[in-house]
Amino acid sequence: MTVKAVHVVGGGLAGSEAAWQIAQAGVPVILHEMRPVRATDAHQTDRLAELVCSNSFRADDWTGNAVGLLHAEMRRLGSLIMACADACQVPAGGALAVDREGFAEAVTARLEAHPLVTIAREEVAGLPPADWDSVVVATGPLTSPALAEAILSLTGEDQLSFFDAIAPIVSFDSIDMDVAWRQSRYDKEGPGGEAAAYINCPMDQAQYEAFVDALLAGPKAEFKDWEHVPYFDGCLPIEVMAERGRETLRHGPMKPVGLTNAHKPEEKAYAVVQLRQDNALGTLWNMVGFQTKLKHGAQTEIFRMIPGLEKAVFARLGGLHRNTFLNSPRLLDAQLRLKAEPRLRFAGQVTGVEGYVESAAVGLLAGRFAGAERLGRPLAAPPPTTALGALVGHITGGHLDAGRGSFQPMNINYGLLPPLEPPKRDADGRRLGAKEKTRAKKRMVGDRALADLDAWRARSESAALEPAE
Ligand SMILES: Cc1cc2nc3c(=O)[nH]c(=O)nc-3n(C[C@H](O)[C@H](O)[C@H](O)COP(=O)(O)OP(=O)(O)OC[C@H]3O[C@@H](n4cnc5c(N)ncnc54)[C@H](O)[C@@H]3O)c2cc1C
Repeated sequence: MTVKAVHVVGGGLAGSEAAWQIAQAGVPVILHEMRPVRATDAHQTDRLAELVCSNSFRADDWTGNAVGLLHAEMRRLGSLIMACADACQVPAGGALAVDREGFAEAVTARLEAHPLVTIAREEVAGLPPADWDSVVVATGPLTSPALAEAILSLTGEDQLSFFDAIAPIVSFDSIDMDVAWRQSRYDKEGPGGEAAAYINCPMDQAQYEAFVDALLAGPKAEFKDWEHVPYFDGCLPIEVMAERGRETLRHGPMKPVGLTNAHKPEEKAYAVVQLRQDNALGTLWNMVGFQTKLKHGAQTEIFRMIPGLEKAVFARLGGLHRNTFLNSPRLLDAQLRLKAEPRLRFAGQVTGVEGYVESAAVGLLAGRFAGAERLGRPLAAPPPTTALGALVGHITGGHLDAGRGSFQPMNINYGLLPPLEPPKRDADGRRLGAKEKTRAKKRMVGDRALADLDAWRARSESAALEPAE
């Protein structure tokens, strides 16, 4: 029996993962990616799964961090994105960061080599043709205007746009290592055993105050509708944080805790700027948490006020970008299909999740749903006790609609998962403190999620062995 191909539109994090999952289910897939025929404002290459900003997939600890739990679940489901990220790791403390070029190359090569995957380099510049009866739309925050307009006319919902901000990248050999030093916060070891993953630049109080003044005074890029930009707190531009209070940065990306100046151990820094390795060679380092809407000239001037970066050569300066996402809780069903036109499924950032990992995670599910549906064995979503189930549950209905614009992009977090009561005492009968209870609770949530995911996977695999309906 010939199985008809599923179409995936967009070869980013979500589309690449979706295409892989469909093909791994034994279903042919045609992946339509518009680059290099048509560019986006942020991508710079023609590779699939290009990372447009940070090279980090964030914390990699499933026992204590929700995104780490998502990593673990995706690995268990044969995620292409996680396999390539693991293969292209660079040191980043407790985080999973990758060599961006190696990573995108690996994803591209694996998909190109898959016998059931065909890659078409073309823009889908409107609604997919009617004879594409199963489509995964994974065109991301920079969905091309022609397709965005077509979706808009179909959904009747207003499209929401907002701006995030990109952090600058500095060339290693321009950093003054007589001032800066390498250390991970609290010397925490990363997956590769590296405990000195970051470069730290210290500031005393006078330097910090002058820096905050410069951020506040620096010329910013101007935008129409700026007042309505729905920032989410994990990705605030640095100058916006400074506007919220002079101390905000010291308690945010510039916090000095857990770090000791290797050159002057007796001096406690008032604030610290951290840089994280950006490529395998170690030649490029990005400024952690320094997403910004400052104008480029001002960025060079102001960021060179940072001790150790006086002569910084910026391989890339910070910038801003648009985000396009659907009002998914209203528009999509639990299978990520558009209620108004169920042949169209959505995946990735365009569904209102935020982040590389979350985008790929929704791609993974959309791919599994589409593959199973094509084989006549529809697949239920993973239980809401799993990070994957919680995430897809949130975007397909978990969010409480509080009127227009209330649905905003969401990272995975423990708040999306049903809570568990932590133990009050440890195995020896000792009362647990608040921090220990939180740790124990996260661990329990993680244990439950992985057990429930395994059971869901086992159920879906045994269903796949049954004859199709
Ligand atoms: C500038 C920027 C910086 C970001 N920084 C971060 C970050 O640091 N960390 C983080 O976790 N997340 C970040 N994000 C958010 C988000 O996680 C990423 O955008 C992520 O790549 C989303 O994955 P995706 O697969 O949904 O979209 P993408 O990875 O953008 O993939 C969509 C693909 O679809 C293609 N496409 C678009 N329209 C069409 C069409 N009509 N026909 C065919 N192909 C089309 C595009 O060329 C692209 O390859 C950032 C987003 C932007 C825009």
